[in-house]
Amino acid sequence: MSDSRPPASVLVTGASSGIGQACAQALDARGWRVFAGVRREGAGQALAERASERLTPVALDVSDGGSVAAALAQIERAAPEGLAGLVNNAGIAVSGPLEFTPLDELRRQLEVNLVGQLAVTQAALELLRHARGRIVNISSVGGRTALPFIGPYAASKFGLEALSDSLRRELRPGGIDVVVIEPGTIATPIWEKGDREATELRERLPPRGRELYGRALERLQKMARERGERGLPPERVAAVVLRALTARRPRARYVVGADARAQIALLGLLPDRLGDRVVARMLDA
Ligand code: NDP
Repeated sequence: MSDSRPPASVLVTGASSGIGQACAQALDARGWRVFAGVRREGAGQALAERASERLTPVALDVSDGGSVAAALAQIERAAPEGLAGLVNNAGIAVSGPLEFTPLDELRRQLEVNLVGQLAVTQAALELLRHARGRIVNISSVGGRTALPFIGPYAASKFGLEALSDSLRRELRPGGIDVVVIEPGTIATPIWEKGDREATELRERLPPRGRELYGRALERLQKMARERGERGLPPERVAAVVLRALTARRPRARYVVGADARAQIALLGLLPDRLGDRVVARMLDA
């Protein structure tokens, strides 16, 4: 980055932990001026202590319109030259059998991972336009393939993929690019939080739900715990986000991790019914 220009500014949502934190730190280390979206003041302070003075924590709950507006107003005051990047990363994972998923849980999932991403994007677009910035949306392998018992999460990420495609085509004439990142398993707190919530939801299942799905859910939870522990470090995703923000001609999508590549290739290539059999066998193991 040139010394004569102010550092390029970027907003990273959900920067308190995991991938968002790794992105904020990696971008800060490369000289960006990072606005780090956090929901808790303590998380912002902790992040600021480990970063340069350029990093500014910003209170941001993506599912709260007032919070989104206030955060973007704060950024506009601090960086009137505009945003060179927006990393829509904040996310949660709601799982469970769709037959018994409380609809409010589905709404909460979509509100954070889908509606919230667009809310932040809408509020940031004029600032992005000023700097001909780039939008990087953190999707998931779950945005390309929908495994059982993760339906709410997959719906949110399939939705994010669709929004990203439409948005990329809508914003193309204005020179604002939209890039999607599709990580496989990454070792972050999302797995532990998801595990806790999955246990709560499983315990709240009616007797019929436990009878129909109890065993499969326990097996799946065990698999998810093992997967989470074996995940790639979040810095691997941050390195790809950095590439997506800085490459002269970035790809529209980046898959991160061999597991994600294998899952997309396998389920994408196989006819759906054959894919169903592979997944059923995987869950029976
Ligand atoms: P973490 O749980 O570590 O991070 C999630 C971040 O999102 C936290 O900073 C959390 O803040 C924030 N967040 C949650 N709800 C809101 C909200 N309403 N408003 C603002 N921020 C919110 O998980 P990851 O780092 O793993 O997840 C980051 C993204 O990566 C997610 O979109 C996830 O779907 C995606 N992803 C993760 C994969 C993985 O294996 N870990 C794989 C593929 C994609 P707080 O601390 O306040 O809760």
